[in-house]
Amino acid sequence: MKKIDVAVVGSGIGGSLFAKLNNDKNLILFEKDSNLGGCASTFKRFGHHFNTGATTFVGYEQGHILKNMFDKVGFVPDITKSNIAFRTIQNDKIVDRIKDFDEFLENLDKNYYHENNRVFWQKIKEIDEKFWQLKSVYFSKYSLIAYAKTANFVFELLKNYGFDVLVSAESFINKYLPNISKEYKAFIDAQLLITLQTTSKNATLLSMSLGLAYPFHDVFYVNKGMGNIFDDLLKDVDVRKKEEIKKILKKPYGFEVQTSKDVYFAKNVVLNSTLFDSKKLFDDKDIQKYYDKFEFNDQSAFVIYLVLNTDKKLLNHYQIILDKEIKNCISNSFFVSIANENDEKLAKNGLSVTVSTHTKAKFWNELKSESYTKYELEKDKTVNEILRNLKEKLDLKDNEISLNFSATSSSFNKYINRINCGGKAINISNITQLASAKTPFKGLYNIGDTVFAGQGWPGVALGVDVLNKEFND
Ligand SMILES: Cc1cc2nc3c(=O)[nH]c(=O)nc-3n(C[C@H](O)[C@H](O)[C@H](O)COP(=O)(O)OP(=O)(O)OC[C@H]3O[C@@H](n4cnc5c(N)ncnc54)[C@H](O)[C@@H]3O)c2cc1C
Repeated sequence: MKKIDVAVVGSGIGGSLFAKLNNDKNLILFEKDSNLGGCASTFKRFGHHFNTGATTFVGYEQGHILKNMFDKVGFVPDITKSNIAFRTIQNDKIVDRIKDFDEFLENLDKNYYHENNRVFWQKIKEIDEKFWQLKSVYFSKYSLIAYAKTANFVFELLKNYGFDVLVSAESFINKYLPNISKEYKAFIDAQLLITLQTTSKNATLLSMSLGLAYPFHDVFYVNKGMGNIFDDLLKDVDVRKKEEIKKILKKPYGFEVQTSKDVYFAKNVVLNSTLFDSKKLFDDKDIQKYYDKFEFNDQSAFVIYLVLNTDKKLLNHYQIILDKEIKNCISNSFFVSIANENDEKLAKNGLSVTVSTHTKAKFWNELKSESYTKYELEKDKTVNEILRNLKEKLDLKDNEISLNFSATSSSFNKYINRINCGGKAINISNITQLASAKTPFKGLYNIGDTVFAGQGWPGVALGVDVLNKEFND
């Protein structure tokens, strides 16, 4: 049995960043799929490359978490700064989310006028800026030191923001944007749903600020697909693709890790599988009980992949907001990411496009096991509604779309072992149940978007940073 110090299970953002930061150890990164990156991978189908889910890259700027981390390991990602983070289209209203605050505000006022727009958005921007300057961002449990450091972080939060920051996002909107129009509220909520996995109804002011302010940062297009970052980053890491972890047995000084190909003994295991999917890897009753504590978050993604052959000048990202919820989904908006025309991989023989929206995770899984025909039929309904609106809003003709296929939570399960996508939004009622990377079991950790600090590149990287310090201190 091969002995190693660390087995990292999964090459999502969490697993990959952690593995790269700890590459000086006797470490192996196991990935069940043939592509690296999980929700942020890039895959090839029908001769074209597509981004699986994540398409925008943010947090790579001076003083920010990803830049700090990448600098530390000497990695420079192949990225291009986007002048427009994304364009929102809602009926006749078009607003570009750009970094320049005054220009954004001018455009916003033209479309969603409110006398307090400046005050509201200024506050949002300031809260976000302050957050990224905090020195002691930390969240952990299960040891005195962990609780003390977490308390220190909470103290720093309260010192900087006061209790205001924990107020509900909705009450803040009502206070600063009284009588906000339904359309304007939908504009805000649609953006929160993609960044926080929830709307203003369930968010805190702090999380709303982080969710709404990200386009005030540098936002990047990743050349050759998001998966390219992982391929480049992990070049010198011992990565075992297509090697799935099947069982992990707790032993006195570590873990026996049984994979689809071999058996290893690891002193430490870092799971990049979600909190909801980790239990099945263990027979140990206490570990199973630990994972049982986390209530499943029944949210996932519905994604359409297509190829565009068009001469139209298009942006890389759009958010299209509709008047009603999309069929079989829990959102009235969808996000469209279009390849740069000079991307040598994603724009080969047409522009690769990833269109995504929110849906329930269990719905598609259960439908598929009930009847495959019904599953396909419902998928078609959702695809047709999204494509109809996409064509209308971007003025695309049928013959400009040469290929399309879609993915549900069931597809995510097949390829990357998760039906839930996007983790769990932090809100006032669940803040105390938040999971930390550290578990109560010596040598066992979870990393990724279901643990602190949440989803996306910056959220997962914050969690990795905490875990990394804990692991190496
Ligand atoms: C549709 C969509 C769009 C998004 N858009 C953006 C965006 O534009 N920008 C952004 O920053 N974020 C975006 N996100 C969020 C972001 O993609 C995720 O939060 C992030 O990628 C999750 O990373 P993770 O570390 O949790 O790992 P995951 O992505 O969950 O990856 C886990 C990996 O572990 C592997 N694995 C699981 N179990 C095993 C096992 N037993 N053995 C071996 N391997 C295993 C899986 O195959 C997978 O590769 C988007 C998400 C979705 C779904």
